[in-house]
Amino acid sequence: MTEKIVLKNIDIPGSETIEVYLSHGGYQALEKALSGFQPAELIEEVKKSGLRGRGGAGFPAGVKWGFLPKQTDKPIYLVCNADEGEPGTFKDRYIIEKDPHLLIEGIIISSYAIGAHQAYIYIRGEFVKGAGVLEKAIAEAYKKGYLGKNILNRGFDLDLCLHRGAGSYVCGEETALLESLEGNRGNPRLKPPFPASVGLFQSPTVINNVETLANIPAIVMKGAEWFAGIGKKGNTGTKIFAVSGHVNRPGVYELPLGTPLRELIYQEAGGIPEDKKLKAVMPGGSSTPVITVDEIDVDMDFDSLAALGTMLGSGAVIVMDESTCMVRTTRRLAGFYAHESCGQCTPCREGVPWMVTILERIEKGEGREEDPDLILDICDNIKGITLCPLGDAAAMPIESIVRKFREEFEDHIREGRCPSS
Ligand code: SF4
Repeated sequence: MTEKIVLKNIDIPGSETIEVYLSHGGYQALEKALSGFQPAELIEEVKKSGLRGRGGAGFPAGVKWGFLPKQTDKPIYLVCNADEGEPGTFKDRYIIEKDPHLLIEGIIISSYAIGAHQAYIYIRGEFVKGAGVLEKAIAEAYKKGYLGKNILNRGFDLDLCLHRGAGSYVCGEETALLESLEGNRGNPRLKPPFPASVGLFQSPTVINNVETLANIPAIVMKGAEWFAGIGKKGNTGTKIFAVSGHVNRPGVYELPLGTPLRELIYQEAGGIPEDKKLKAVMPGGSSTPVITVDEIDVDMDFDSLAALGTMLGSGAVIVMDESTCMVRTTRRLAGFYAHESCGQCTPCREGVPWMVTILERIEKGEGREEDPDLILDICDNIKGITLCPLGDAAAMPIESIVRKFREEFEDHIREGRCPSS
């Protein structure tokens, strides 16, 4: 049985309360961090652990922290990105609702490491329950002296503020999130400058995902070497996989990075209902290129999936069986991204809705012979040239589906209807 790092407490009744958290070793890592580490040593420890960001990009967390300016007269901020909006992703919500103090402890330790005295949690607006749980947990942490002035009498001050978003997917992009947190419309910013130098309120800022921060207490307690011994070289630790779609047991599974996708689908998630055949998998959320049944013997880690031309993303595994219409799937994906585009740049604002129009006509039986190539051409003109990753997030999965399931698109066009309905 694999050791759990982030989900270790979730089956304990009352796991969201500070009493239960404390009775299972909670806030001991904070004591250890404040008494046994200088901030720079903590950054080194996280670097040595090899922890890569769990929000999607997979950038090494300690390296990200190290990008902050060494000398600054501005305040440094830590922002926890809890705007979990990627379709198929529901693992951060689980941590927030079931073990909020693990996240809060991770935030306090990380703030100490980077020299932040003000931290924020930007939580997705729809997470009403999670926001309530976090509000209560933050109040508990203040009451016990883990937040506020002179934490644990170690001379470290930190305030933590919970900020609820207003239901925009693009606010999960870090600079859009910062704009929203500042009270502006959540439009992504042009980068550079990057948030490490010019972030929240024009000040140096670190933005980390919920799951990333929830790993920090265990790294402090058990050490970087222990953490680096889990998973694979360059892909250390565990990952929470949110498995949805056509599986018998959808849910969250915390497993070492590098766990085979086949094992995740057929053992952990119980296989495909009614013994239907697997058709396709999106391995890291709706923005990751699809893989076919012939490609599922791949390890679920950043590098193995990248080598296959896709991404680990947020670890949201969307499973599709043989009954899935890939034209309909693509049209729905395109519709989502068209709706969520902020409209700042032309390829995303115009290109994604254009693909919706084409996909709708194919689905309605009015597709044209040239449509698959037209979609691929539009994708080519979106990828890599937009202001934020939403353009790529729309184009990459659509392009991969049209390339890998082209016959299905052509059948729709030729027959004027969905052949599988
Ligand atoms: Fe907005 Fe789309 Fe451009 Fe991102 S890629 S800034 S969402 S228009």
